[in-house]
Amino acid sequence: MACTSSTGTKVQEQSPTEGAMQPDDFSIERSHFGTTAQGQSVEKYQLKNPQGSTIEIITYGGIITSWTAPNRDGKQQNVVLGYDKLADYIRENPYFGAIIGRYGNRITKGQFTLAGNAYQLETNDGPNHLHGGVQGFDKVIWAAEDTITGQGATLLLRYRSADGEGGYPGQLDCTVRYTLTADHSLRVDYEATTDQHTIVNLTQHTYFNLSGDFSQTIEDHQLLLPADRYLPVDATLIPTGALASVEGTPFDFRRMKSIGQDIAADDEQLLRGKGYDHCWAMGLSDSVRLMAQVLHPGSGRLLEIHSNEPGIQFYSGNFLDGTLPRPGGGTYPHRSGLCLETQHYPDSPNQSDFPSVTLLPGERYQTTTIFTFTTTDKQ
Ligand code: BGC
Repeated sequence: MACTSSTGTKVQEQSPTEGAMQPDDFSIERSHFGTTAQGQSVEKYQLKNPQGSTIEIITYGGIITSWTAPNRDGKQQNVVLGYDKLADYIRENPYFGAIIGRYGNRITKGQFTLAGNAYQLETNDGPNHLHGGVQGFDKVIWAAEDTITGQGATLLLRYRSADGEGGYPGQLDCTVRYTLTADHSLRVDYEATTDQHTIVNLTQHTYFNLSGDFSQTIEDHQLLLPADRYLPVDATLIPTGALASVEGTPFDFRRMKSIGQDIAADDEQLLRGKGYDHCWAMGLSDSVRLMAQVLHPGSGRLLEIHSNEPGIQFYSGNFLDGTLPRPGGGTYPHRSGLCLETQHYPDSPNQSDFPSVTLLPGERYQTTTIFTFTTTDKQ
């Protein structure tokens, strides 16, 4: 049976459930995933909902290694890029599935000033700082605690980042809570506190390919980004500071269109990103609201992303170059995955007009992003 969502897309109603889910309907299984060169054990947790959707998360980087969702015929398939071995994640990972911190995306030359003090972070992306530096939150081991409640299967991850780690001021205590619910949603709640003035901007870096076939490009996926403005970037992918209108540009996704439609347009911004690699600006919000929809017409899988973050970075997998190994054989081709990273705007510490990323002692950083899978009827 089909109904129409608030954004006008046809979605299939979930099968009715009798009353609240029982905790027994969910399961969590823990297994050993690997051991680092330093002898640290990395665990994998598989969260499962009553409909058979599973999410696998490892304690290294809080990485989502696998995430299944049903297609329109109910067939479950993994729809996220990843590896099956810890060694592959350690050797070379373009942030597949990872928690990003302390700062999602770029900071100009790794420099910023806070409360009169100048800080120099590591530069790991040409002249700039990217995704927390050389050993960001994607490369540390998180402590894990699992619980099952009426709401779903939850994995709570904790990490204490020491004062000065990567050049950042203040000890930062972070938690990321992943909850898989019965309606094929993954809720991600981020929290952090500090003991000194600092900056923080956490996000999730899963690469989706809703076809479940990772030999295919995501250019046939259709995307909706309900944002009027995006942040143009300079040659090193740092926002210029302008909030540009999407009107009449390849960046207009206010109506669903295929990612491939304009990606090869002769547009300076697309050339700089080698495709889409930009932040869409939606401004501050007190509550979670729709930030993106992605549809794979072939399988009928529709992903909706809600968040209370002001921005969403859409990265079309432009730097995937066909060299990274795919479990089961082959490699991940160019643009075989896309990322939609809810976050504050890149380089906010150096842009006084952007929403603030400063966290003070006594404050609590709290953001929520919800990823929900449904399906559409055949078009
Ligand atoms: C950035 C890209 C970067 C990628 C790394 C994205 O969040 O926007 O520029 O190459 O992460 O995989």
